[in-house]
This record gives sequence, structure tokens and C-alpha cells, in this order.
Amino acid sequence: MAGRIGVVGSNMIDLVTYIDRMPGPGETVEAPSFEIGFGGKGANQAIAAARLGSDVTMVTRVGDDMFGPQVLENLRSNGVDTAHSRAVPGQPSGVAPIFVEPSGENAILIVKGANATLSPADVDEAAEALASCDLILMQLEVPLETVYHTVALAAARGIRTVLNPAPADPTLDVSRLRGLGYFTPNESELAVLTGLPTGTEAEIEAAARSLMAKGIDAIVVTLGGRGARLVTADGVHAIAPVTVEAVDTTGAGDAFIGSFAHFHAGGMDAPAALAQAARYAALSITRRGTQKSYATPAEFAAFCA
Ligand code: ADP
Repeated sequence: MAGRIGVVGSNMIDLVTYIDRMPGPGETVEAPSFEIGFGGKGANQAIAAARLGSDVTMVTRVGDDMFGPQVLENLRSNGVDTAHSRAVPGQPSGVAPIFVEPSGENAILIVKGANATLSPADVDEAAEALASCDLILMQLEVPLETVYHTVALAAARGIRTVLNPAPADPTLDVSRLRGLGYFTPNESELAVLTGLPTGTEAEIEAAARSLMAKGIDAIVVTLGGRGARLVTADGVHAIAPVTVEAVDTTGAGDAFIGSFAHFHAGGMDAPAALAQAARYAALSITRRGTQKSYATPAEFAAFCA
């Protein structure tokens, strides 16, 4: 029951510095520790789906720096096909310098680097491989034109699509997403993208319906520890949260989207696939880290038992 998934999206290197306090302007401060990790919403979601057993191909761009080959190798070693991923001469890799205070509070910078060069022509170059997919998954860490182009290409070929509109970009033109299958904002992204309030269940539904009016089939609103809502022409379907002891919520959203893509591409209907995704994301927050917190099928089966 494994489908074929195409991910047109980002990769990042997370540069995580654990700090006692942020330095002020012109100040140098010693920090206790530092860690490098593989991240980026596209890569995280691709790896979640691949770890669960989907056949995943990724269209992404890395820099021609020391990180580029490591990012590609990390994708490959996690079973992701990188035939349509490569380094861009003269570009740095995408990086995310992250500063974590003792309280757990964090401050994050995103430098898109080579991700910002992923173009509609790059998608066309991978069109054959993408056309053989059951589902194509996107996020917003690559240029919007590339996202619009991929949605149009998939719609023309009748391929299901999922767009996770993160990080929220108020310049996203929803009218250019006509034919999109699933749009999956969290609560605050939904508010930014629609300019509407999302404080109550009725407001969430109204905001979701305002997006559907522009030609999107279904909206999945994720609500953190409150679960998710699937809004379709037929009504609103509540996806119950799975209560766990949270250890590290980093990457839970990507675990949810990547696993939803896996279960849905593999043949489950959307409500069932979302219920499984809620379990998979919950399991990921009981473990430390981002990609390393994503469970194998055996670990997931044990958690669900
Ligand atoms: P994002 O990280 O993109 O903001 P959310 O925080 O809404 O996304 O999380 C995505 C999904 O992960 C939720 O719909 C829920 O199923 C699951 N999830 C997130 N946080 C928790 C939590 N604290 N407890 C249980 N499930 C959670």
C-alpha cells in the first residue's frame, strides 16, 4: 500500500546554537553548545513519507558549498530519489540559523540560498517523473511561481496535489492555485492568507471556505494539540488530536503533512489518512529532533497498537 510521491520543495541545514542570552548589537557572547541538523520543510516531509515506505522523488536545489553534497546524501540515505535534485553553481545552500534560549524560546533566521532558484523550468525538466506520481507535495520555501507552475502542471495531468502554505506568505495569490487538491495551513497561516479571523470553529470554517471559493478542493487546517479540521464541499470533518507527553514539537507539522501524503497516496481516503497523520505527528513529538523523530512503520505500528 505504498504510493509514489513527488516533492517539489526546499531543503535547509539547521544551524542550532543553544545560548544563555542573545548578544546585543556589536557584542560577542560565548554560547554553551551548537548542533547541525538536516531540515527544510520539503526535505522533512519527503523523509517522513519515505520512512513510512512511500516511493518518494524530490525536486530540490542545494548550494555548491560544503553542505550541498551532505543534503543530497541525507535524502538518498533516507530512501528519497534525488535524480531531479542538484547543486546550483555560485549559490549557497539554504540554511536556518536557530538560537535556542534556556527557556526553550527560539529565534530563527531562514536563508533560502539555492532554494530560491528552484524555477518552473526545473519542474518542467522533472515533468516525466512527476507525471508518474500519485500525489505531488509542495510548501512555500521555494519561489511562488514554481508552486503555481507545479499546481497547474499536476492539475493538467490529473495528479492529486497537497500544498502546505508554510511559512505563511501573504503575497501568495490563491487564485493561481486553481485545481489544487489539498491546502494545509495551520491556524495562523490560515488567518494571514485570508485576512480573516480564525478564533472559533465557525470562523475557521468560513476562512477555509473563502479559499475553496477560489478553486481549491479541500482545506486541512491543523490546530496543534487540538487536532485538525478537513473542510470539503461536503462539510467539516474533525480530526481528533492524539494526546501524548510532548518532548519536542519541532517538525511535528512536517511529520503530519508527510505522513498524510504517504497514507493518502497509498490509497486511504482523506479522513482516514489524516487520522493516521495525527497519530504519526503525535509519536514524533514524543521524541527529540526533527527528521530523526520520524518513526519507521514498525515503530508506528507499535505506537498505534
Ligand atoms: P505546524 O507545526 O505546521 O504549526 P501544528 O502545530 O498544527 O502544525 O501540528 C500539526 C499536527 O500535528 C496537528 O494537527 C496535530 O495532529 C499534531 N500535533 C501538533 N502538536 C501536537 C500536540 N501538542 N499534541 C498532539 N498532537 C499534536
